[in-house]
Amino acid sequence: MADFDIEVLRLGHRVGRDPRITTHLALVSRAMGAKGFILSGDKDNKLFSNIRSVNDRFGHGLDCRYESQPMKLLRGINKSSTSEKPIIVHLTMYGEPFKKVVPNIPKNRPVIVVVGGAKVPSELFSISDYNIAVGNQPHSEVAALALFLDSWTEGEGFNRQYFDPQLIISPSKTGKDVHEVN
Ligand code: SAM
Repeated sequence: MADFDIEVLRLGHRVGRDPRITTHLALVSRAMGAKGFILSGDKDNKLFSNIRSVNDRFGHGLDCRYESQPMKLLRGINKSSTSEKPIIVHLTMYGEPFKKVVPNIPKNRPVIVVVGGAKVPSELFSISDYNIAVGNQPHSEVAALALFLDSWTEGEGFNRQYFDPQLIISPSKTGKDVHEVN
């Protein structure tokens, strides 16, 4: 089973506007290889409890936490000099093409993938190791994250491990094949 050291940081979550899209970011993170999801902006306990419920039913695979000072966190990572220093990947339509850049990202270090919200601080461009575009047109952070994760994990993110699931889905040609554990 594949095991990746990837965290996804969502900047600037707004409870009034973003719950669905941020939940989808967390679900894509969980389904495509990330082990952590960091929420910043508004606190959102409902979002965390939705992800806990998915973890409980389909297996634990994503830890969620709230970060009140995401730029401070990123500055700290940027300044750190340990060999375990995460690589900061910022997804932005202004960046370089992901298909060209992703093969150059080292695979032997953790990765923190930063996804913007309403307004992205310009400092983010300089403290990120990579500013990566999934096409140079504005679209969806969920689509950008999914394509990046698929590319970085070379499709293996889907084969990540889940622990203690209550339900296991088997691929089926004809309908729902769901097995209940105990
Ligand atoms: N207006 C915002 C800004 O100041 O950059 C961008 C808002 S956009 C809907 C939200 C996030 O989606 C972006 O910060 C980025 O992470 C992601 N995104 C949107 N289009 C993208 C693209 N073509 N490539 C990579 N990421 C993209």
